[in-house]
Amino acid sequence: MPTYDDQNIFARILRGEIPNDTVAETDHTLAFNDITPQAPVHVLAIPKGAYVDYADFHARAPEAEIADFHRTCAAICADRGLTENGFRAITNAGAHGVQEVPHFHLHLIGGRPLGRMLARPEA
Ligand code: AMP
Repeated sequence: MPTYDDQNIFARILRGEIPNDTVAETDHTLAFNDITPQAPVHVLAIPKGAYVDYADFHARAPEAEIADFHRTCAAICADRGLTENGFRAITNAGAHGVQEVPHFHLHLIGGRPLGRMLARPEA
C-alpha cells in the first residue's frame, strides 16, 4: 500500500486550502461536485480520514466512519434524484484503475443514461 500523500488535492480541500462546491458534510464525510462533471450529477464523496484508496479505507477506518460514509453516499443519491432511474458509484484505485487523486473517493454519477461501464474488448 502506498503511503498517504498529505499534499493531494482532496487533503488540501479538507484542510480548507482549496475551495469546493459542497453537497453534504458530516463529522466523517465530505461530498462535493466534481470540477469536471461527466454527467448532470457527478458528486465526489470522501472520508475525512487519510486513506489512499478503497482497500485502505475499508481495512483501516473505524466502523463508524465506514458506516457514515456509505449512508451519506446513499442519502446523496436519494437527495439528487438518482435512486429512481439509477446511477453509477465508481471508485478508481491505483495505476490499473487510473486513480488521479490518491485520497479514497467514490464518484456518484447519474442524471442520464450512462451506457456500459467498460468498453468491451475488440473481437
Ligand atoms: P480519480 O481519477 O478517480 O482519482 O478522479 C479524480 C476526480 O477528481 C476527477 O473526476 C477530477 O475531475 C476531480 N477533481 C480534481 N480536482 C478537483 C477539485 N479541485 N474539485 C473537485 N473535483 C476535482
